[in-house]
Amino acid sequence: MQRNRSTKIIATLGPASGEQETIAALHAAGADLFRLNFSHGEHADHLARLNAIRAVEQAVGTPIGVMADLQGPKIRIGTIQGDGVDLAVGAAYRLDLTGQPGDGQRAPLPHPEVFAALEEGMDLLIDDGRLRLLVKQLGDDYAECEVVTGGRLTDRKGVNLPQALLPLGAMTAKDQADLRFALEAGVDWVALSFVQRPDDIAEARRLIAGRAAVMAKIEKPAALCQIDEIIELADAVMVARGDLGVELPVEEVPALQKDLIRRARRAGKPVVVATQMLESMISAPVPTRAEVSDVATAVYDGADAVMLSGETASGGFPVEAVEVMNRVAAKVEGDPGYRAIMDAEHADPEATSADAITAAARQVAETISATAIVTYTTSGSTALRAARERPPVPTLVLTPSLITARRLAVAWGLSCVHSADASGFTDMVDRACRAAADRGIATSGDRLVITAGVPFGTPGATNSLRIAWVP
Ligand code: PEP
Repeated sequence: MQRNRSTKIIATLGPASGEQETIAALHAAGADLFRLNFSHGEHADHLARLNAIRAVEQAVGTPIGVMADLQGPKIRIGTIQGDGVDLAVGAAYRLDLTGQPGDGQRAPLPHPEVFAALEEGMDLLIDDGRLRLLVKQLGDDYAECEVVTGGRLTDRKGVNLPQALLPLGAMTAKDQADLRFALEAGVDWVALSFVQRPDDIAEARRLIAGRAAVMAKIEKPAALCQIDEIIELADAVMVARGDLGVELPVEEVPALQKDLIRRARRAGKPVVVATQMLESMISAPVPTRAEVSDVATAVYDGADAVMLSGETASGGFPVEAVEVMNRVAAKVEGDPGYRAIMDAEHADPEATSADAITAAARQVAETISATAIVTYTTSGSTALRAARERPPVPTLVLTPSLITARRLAVAWGLSCVHSADASGFTDMVDRACRAAADRGIATSGDRLVITAGVPFGTPGATNSLRIAWVP
């Protein structure tokens, strides 16, 4: 199925979208990759959804990516007496390790690692930042705070500590069990929450051992201190604006989104913009004007993919939400201003033959007004270099690896076809022309720019560029 846009769409599956029929409708509406959110649901739910995605993939004949999004450590307040307590601005409030139910003076925070990392003067945010406490005085097992933003505190609310570097890895025992399950089930991407340092990615890579690609969710300010190293180690990044907007002042998120997209694009790593993109569509069939503008901004920024969360997982209008994203992305990409922005942001090719060839392919395609670029790839790395060029024509990827084809579903502008390797130059041209015609990308008389590695079937050997006429 050939899309009419280059920016990809990720749809999170959940109770509103678990049935195969709905998944097929989401794919038809524009979803290129599906996210299984391990913060919710049982393994059996995720497995049923994964099987349904694979059945849809088989039916439509287009590789579809699947991402397992791991929850990561969650810090929570313990229990509070009754139905909660009201905290007044300026009041003193104590957090401690005693385990007794909380009241109007104190609450349990059953996380010794938090008390080890806190310092006086730090902020402690509760319930997605609705309540804010300032740490005034610290002991080994308590923190005396002042209420800066008041409100109602109820049981087990989440806690964020934006200024602290927590002595926690990105994976809990639950995450490790979820990871084992997801890899066994055959997901293509693993998204890692709570990334604070490059070591978190290195540790995940060690456990995953190449069985899936790794996406670093950027949601903690600590990650920003070593962001280039994190991007370097990860296969892709996600601008996880939900947590980022709690941990940082919300007004800092838009500039950060642009900066992260720029850095990831320069590094040739796919970048996803996520959370609250069409939030009001959870309960309404049409988006707000501001949401449309937000999706458009991510597309103009050059993101590889935009993501839907609650809109498709638990909302009342999952298919409509994907349709809106699809229309907005296609419209923005048709704006001449969009092309000018894509052209203005070109990273210099690295000194490798694959980079030189893919940069040349883009130039040749423009010079001769080719209809499409066709890239042969095994590992997917040449296709990602081609996507990094943000060419003005479709890029068709031919790969003998179904795993590669599914992983590349997240990358800007790549249409993947699972196909055997070419056996020689004639076969290379024949396969490319047939695939482009089958997809409706090219017709008789059109020209294609084809890149491949010779000898054929050698991974990492992209060294050839060929111009071909579609017969
Ligand atoms: C986010 O914080 O934006 C995000 C995508 O992560 P989660 O689903 O864990 O909130």
